[in-house]
Amino acid sequence: MNFKEHIRVIEDFPQPGIRFKDITTLLKNGEAYRASIDAIAEQVKSLNIDVIAGPEARGFVVGAPLAYALGVAFVPIRKSGKLPWESIEASYELEYGKDKLAMHKDAISPGQRVLIADDLLATGGTIATCLDLVGQLGGEVVGAAFMIELTYLNGRSKMPGVDIITLMQY
Ligand code: 5GP
Repeated sequence: MNFKEHIRVIEDFPQPGIRFKDITTLLKNGEAYRASIDAIAEQVKSLNIDVIAGPEARGFVVGAPLAYALGVAFVPIRKSGKLPWESIEASYELEYGKDKLAMHKDAISPGQRVLIADDLLATGGTIATCLDLVGQLGGEVVGAAFMIELTYLNGRSKMPGVDIITLMQY
């Protein structure tokens, strides 16, 4: 399937100069959504994953169905202040703006093999923060999977040694 056909590119959102890749047009096509998750699942199934961790909010849209397809656990990585139990935090910068991410202290057990999933890899700031959090909990990040990679921002360089799977590149 040509997944890019289902992505809507929006000029100057959320600020001038950004060409936003809108995945809602892919999600609203059931066949394309399922095919995209199945294609990622196929590429990561050999990694022997125990847990998929996805950052709020679009990481849930990719990570949760992927966990279901593989029959493995899903843990949410949330914005600071949203999790109800004891948490760890790390701050990060976005392509535009700044934020803090958090995970429950018991979300991952030491030694578990973790795949991080999100919709899009831009500068890699978000994913580097997820790596930091999973590492703090003793998890081993064995891969990171995305629907889209903005190759010109070279987010991959923030994750040396991590297997990176992307369905579409811009
Ligand atoms: P990074 O931290 O790699 O610079 O940015 C990636 C994060 O920002 C992802 O969580 C993603 O959801 C969001 N993001 C940045 N640019 C875009 C975009 O063009 N489209 C979408 N859907 N998300 C974006």
